[in-house]
Amino acid sequence: MSTIVVKFGGSSLANATQILKSIAIIKADKHRRYVVVSAPGKAHAEDTKVTDLLYRCYNRAVQGGEVESVLSVIEKRFAEIISGLNIDLDLSEDFKILRDHLASDPSEDFVASRGEYLNAKVLSACLGCPMLDAADYICFDENGKYDQEATEKKLIPAIKSNKNGVFPGFYGATPDGKVHTFSRGGSDITGAIVAKAAGAYVYENWTDVSGMLVADPRIVENPKPIENITYRELRELSYMGAAVLHEDAVFPVRQAGIPINIRNTNAPDDDGTMILHHLPDGYKPKSITGIAGNHQFSVVRIEKAMMNNEIGFGAKVLQIFSDFNLSFEHMPSGIDTLSVVVATDKLTPVKTALMERLQKETMPDVIYAEDDMAIIAVVGHGMVSTKGTAARVLSAIAKADINIRMIDQGSGELNIIVGVHEKDYTKAIVSLYKEFEKDL
Ligand code: ASP
Repeated sequence: MSTIVVKFGGSSLANATQILKSIAIIKADKHRRYVVVSAPGKAHAEDTKVTDLLYRCYNRAVQGGEVESVLSVIEKRFAEIISGLNIDLDLSEDFKILRDHLASDPSEDFVASRGEYLNAKVLSACLGCPMLDAADYICFDENGKYDQEATEKKLIPAIKSNKNGVFPGFYGATPDGKVHTFSRGGSDITGAIVAKAAGAYVYENWTDVSGMLVADPRIVENPKPIENITYRELRELSYMGAAVLHEDAVFPVRQAGIPINIRNTNAPDDDGTMILHHLPDGYKPKSITGIAGNHQFSVVRIEKAMMNNEIGFGAKVLQIFSDFNLSFEHMPSGIDTLSVVVATDKLTPVKTALMERLQKETMPDVIYAEDDMAIIAVVGHGMVSTKGTAARVLSAIAKADINIRMIDQGSGELNIIVGVHEKDYTKAIVSLYKEFEKDL
């Protein structure tokens, strides 16, 4: 049977109005059989996420402060949701357990997980289908690492024996039965895990935006949405800071070949973004898929005549970086030059010692480090089949009167990366977007 697993984020479940929209979406397609929920988040900018309130309760409890004023806000929030939905649900016993827990020797993860737990109860009451507590199915090992094998052993039979179900996101349990959470935003991961276990044909991730955008809307006015993006392109863009999903959410579904569809609960008719292994048959990729960037990089440039003949030169340079525990982000090279791009905050504390060692052991003709570099990646499979993309990238930046400090093209022809001075970052992205806008 074709199954869809749907995950609703905090803004889609922030209050009764939002929950009703989510319910309507679930009911609109009978294949939407398993629902993964976040805790109530923000419907409006001034709202506070329930998870943040729960962390506040925990922090107060361990510092010996009073928790009641915060706990009562959470309780009121759920009471409003329940009355707005007109359902018959009494959470007083759950709040009593939480109060007692906070008064004993509280566990941070248990407290933080209650937003999802209670919201799953709410959704289960609305939909009239069972709530399947993630603590019984999502397994972590004793070190808190997600245990896929143990999870699937429990989760797959549970899915087989329940035609429908609501799972709280964000948490599971360690072998001793203690609640353990993923990192913040982790309900995305639960959704992906459930989608894989259910053999879903799509994992719908409902949020408050109609998918991913070609560029950051804080920089570019009204950027176009991305219709289709491959997992590899997504990885490139997320690495550069364009995040819509928790990064770890991609792996379970990618492994299983399940596409992710990012959708907007407030605009359910929008198609959103499809994240896939391969672009659909017959789909002609746009000349670029997305533009993203990141700040605060430094570049160490090394020049040495006949570098290309010196076997092991690159290895020696990288060994020195590794000895200083520095991971490099990019390494564009020329015949006699090598540049190593690293995060400035990692480089700064060891810069003098690193430069001294590089000088001593590689005996370069010239070596220097420059800070204040921003990196911009133009990403897309379409680059392989479209001539002149690199030229357009470079000319768009030149047109904006910006000096390019570094150029790197990934070997898979999936991206072109340029380094510019921090001060030129926004201008460069705007100019790049303008250049490619007509193709999107
Ligand atoms: N409620 C958790 C958080 O705020 C997890 C999630 O929403 O995905 O981080």
